[in-house]
Amino acid sequence: MAQNPTYQAPKGTVDLTGDSARAWEYLNHTAAQVFSRYGYELICTPIFEATEVFARGIGAATDVVNKEMYSFKDKKGRSLTLRPENTAGVVRAAIQGNLAGEAGLAKLYYAGPMFRYERPQKGRQRQFYQIGAEALGPASPEADAEMILMLWNYFCTLGLPVVNMELLVNSMGCPQCRPAYREHLADYLRDHTKELCPECQTRADTNPLRAFDCKNPQCQTVLATAPKLSDALCDDCASHQRQVTALLEAAGVTYTPDPTLVRGLDYYTRTVFEVQIKDGLGAQNALGGGGRYDGLFEQLGGKPTPGIGFALGFERVALALDAANQYLFSAGGPRVCYVAAADAALRGRAFGLAQTIRTSTQKWAALCDLQNKSLKAQFKAADRAGAAVVVIVGADEFEAGQVRMRNMQTHAEELIAFDGVARWLDDHPELQGASNQLSVSSYTS
Ligand code: AMP
Repeated sequence: MAQNPTYQAPKGTVDLTGDSARAWEYLNHTAAQVFSRYGYELICTPIFEATEVFARGIGAATDVVNKEMYSFKDKKGRSLTLRPENTAGVVRAAIQGNLAGEAGLAKLYYAGPMFRYERPQKGRQRQFYQIGAEALGPASPEADAEMILMLWNYFCTLGLPVVNMELLVNSMGCPQCRPAYREHLADYLRDHTKELCPECQTRADTNPLRAFDCKNPQCQTVLATAPKLSDALCDDCASHQRQVTALLEAAGVTYTPDPTLVRGLDYYTRTVFEVQIKDGLGAQNALGGGGRYDGLFEQLGGKPTPGIGFALGFERVALALDAANQYLFSAGGPRVCYVAAADAALRGRAFGLAQTIRTSTQKWAALCDLQNKSLKAQFKAADRAGAAVVVIVGADEFEAGQVRMRNMQTHAEELIAFDGVARWLDDHPELQGASNQLSVSSYTS
């Protein structure tokens, strides 16, 4: 029934319903499967944190902190912010709860909504969903390579075609080598100030590395011949980078060294990486990425603890799966049977049988009518729900202590004992519903 809504979802937000909600479930389910094989556990942090957590963590000169945060005062006048990303919150939680503990290692993953006040477009929203992982404690190149391989494995497991993805890798250096390079780059930008857009002119003083991300063609021309950090790395950073890429090569994953890859948040040190989709997404082609953040614990008041992580964007991944005509298989949920009452007097029996099925089988969902429908309408509802089996509770059969099991694919029927329905269903795991596939529709408002 079409309605004329009084209220609309706020600009840059969408409701996840139907296929898009199932796609979110599919990404979560696959994340739990893939990440647990690397030893990761789920963490859920609050959706808002003290504003300082992000301002100090992400960096005051970043676009995210400068322009995009949803900050507000609570009733006691404290400044809080809806999380624009989850790494700072996870690190805050790790410090507070000493999550790395005696072992000096915590492997955590998260999934949930993030908030940035950006101009909405395809693949870019104000409330968007990320899945990410953080390895807190290890400083080794193996930790970096494992993180990159886990992200790659995740995208492959989802069903994204390898030929349409590109893995970019770079090093952002460390406090030993980056400051001198930063000044060198700033001087270069100041020498070319007339050719730069107003924003990059400011970046020369505030955040020169971010100029590499500018989409302005004139700025890109200037940046093409700018000094590169890859040529200015200290020996330790250069050696770290060589070991990371050697491990990727040993694992047989192709990557592209990209000396201009600078990710938008200030906390990165050494390895940064991004997986891009080659076509189908236009400008918003970064499916996910991340990097090492060895200074973040200290910036948030913790003991020096290295860390590395990534975050991927649900909307872009779902659009990429859609563009690749990749159907998403359901998250392996239970098969559906529909318990239909042949006449009104048996509605209570059908209702009770559905509950028995739900509590005594693992693999089957049971539905029954809640709207006083005729038998014909119950069959329609069973079809709509993709039921593999309809259990018909009819008067004569019930008298005889039986029900009729109808296979919805073959339409074959079988009479079995009323008390034996759950066992019968468990003995027939091969039965298929109408469709276990779903396709992804549009995700942007
Ligand atoms: P970031 O946290 O900026 O490193 O972004 C990590 C990933 O999150 C990106 O590669 C995108 O896939 C996704 N992402 C970031 N911002 C948005 C947004 N406003 N809307 C949708 N996805 C986003």
